Amino acid sequence: MTSNVNMEKIVSLCKRRGFVFPSSEIYGGLASCWDYGPMGVELKRNIKDAWWRTIVQQREDVVGLETSIMMHPKIWEASGHIASFTDPLVECKSCHLRWRATEVDRDRCPKCGGELTEPRMFNLMFKTLMGPVEDEAGTIYLRPETAQGMFVNFDNAVTISRRKLPLGIAQIGKSFRNEITPGNFIFRTREFEHMELEYFVKPDTAKYWFDYWVKERFNWYTNLGIRKENLRLRQHGKGELAHYAEDCYDVEYLFPMGWSELEGIANRGDYDLSQHAEYSGRDLSYYDDESGQHYIPYIIEPSAGVERSFLAFIIDAYREEMVEGEKRVVLRLCPSLAPIKVAVLPLSRNEKLTPLAREIHKQLRSNFMTWYDDSQSIGRRYRRQDEIGTPFCVTIDFESLEDHQVTIRDRDSLAQIRVPIGELEKTLRAKLNGEPFDVSSLWATRQK
Ligand code: ATP
Repeated sequence: MTSNVNMEKIVSLCKRRGFVFPSSEIYGGLASCWDYGPMGVELKRNIKDAWWRTIVQQREDVVGLETSIMMHPKIWEASGHIASFTDPLVECKSCHLRWRATEVDRDRCPKCGGELTEPRMFNLMFKTLMGPVEDEAGTIYLRPETAQGMFVNFDNAVTISRRKLPLGIAQIGKSFRNEITPGNFIFRTREFEHMELEYFVKPDTAKYWFDYWVKERFNWYTNLGIRKENLRLRQHGKGELAHYAEDCYDVEYLFPMGWSELEGIANRGDYDLSQHAEYSGRDLSYYDDESGQHYIPYIIEPSAGVERSFLAFIIDAYREEMVEGEKRVVLRLCPSLAPIKVAVLPLSRNEKLTPLAREIHKQLRSNFMTWYDDSQSIGRRYRRQDEIGTPFCVTIDFESLEDHQVTIRDRDSLAQIRVPIGELEKTLRAKLNGEPFDVSSLWATRQK
């Protein structure tokens, strides 16, 4: 992790630049709830798109699904959530703050030093009532994971996709957990988005696929720019494994508060389909026509959080640099994740420049996420774009009116090249796809 980044700087940048705001702010906020601003929604969407592209679009063995947040309450009995989706909670007898028992290493309140109660189990599922009659029969839960929606649709997915195992089902959607101690900005919240893959395999191939997905998922983060030294894999110890898991690895990131989980990859064995078969009375075994066997598939599950990835991508991209004697804050985000790909910046609001700049913006915005900005000095506008991680700025100056060329400025090297307007879109597309920013190329005029 870069030594000069801390959570305060990230929270402040996110607020200042429109990534994340406290929810219900004008009413004083609501604990651990956050709203995503114009830059935040783009980054979130780009993260989800990147996940969907690698997990669903680029594979033949995974299909997508979107299941309901509210599901039949029996599902949570079958899954074990009603009995064991719990955290041990302790309460301070003096200040009444509540803590996860696993977070306090002494029998005293970390805040005021008061005596703590004995741990009691606290179920993390949000309960609500469905329908107009307020009785037990109407009790349902907000899902704490998207996974169960995929398990109970296993039969549908196999039949509809007409695919053999291994077959994956992928889903991105909201989950809710009544966490005892949310915090660390968007790291742990009560409402968040899951990106989950349930990969159904023949039991004797589960070990192979488990190792495969652990590697794939680690590489997904590094391919999107997270530095390897800030990422590690940690295998769960026997005592730490969830009741259903045969094996589990966490992908951990070096957040400012220390190494913490970014994603979990579990070998869930045949637990899920066996449980749902028993509770629903439906046969969920799979007929393998190659071996002529019926079996309950094992499930390999990579489960990631959108917001935790969001936080890790921003922290990892954050840099403070000195440029010509001035400090600049820059997010060196991977171009595919950057909220804005191209900023269009006329040198000034001059009436001769504006029509050309507007025309260029109009052309570019049908192909890229763009931003038009003509307020304040060009230097301040560059800094603004650096802070939100915009890879390229296109500047239109008075020479542009004569030679029909504009300048592209590279966020990372600060190099600038001049390109004919007719070549602009093609050049930007190539650069966004990773072509090096070569200032000695045909159109280059000057560096910095
Ligand atoms: P933790 O131990 O941090 O509570 P977990 O092991 O319970 O997480 P999983 O159930 O494995 O988490 O969920 C998979 C992923 O979903 C996590 O790695 C994380 O990225 C995300 N996630 C889980 N709970 C939350 C939460 N309360 N807020 C934000 N993201 C979460």
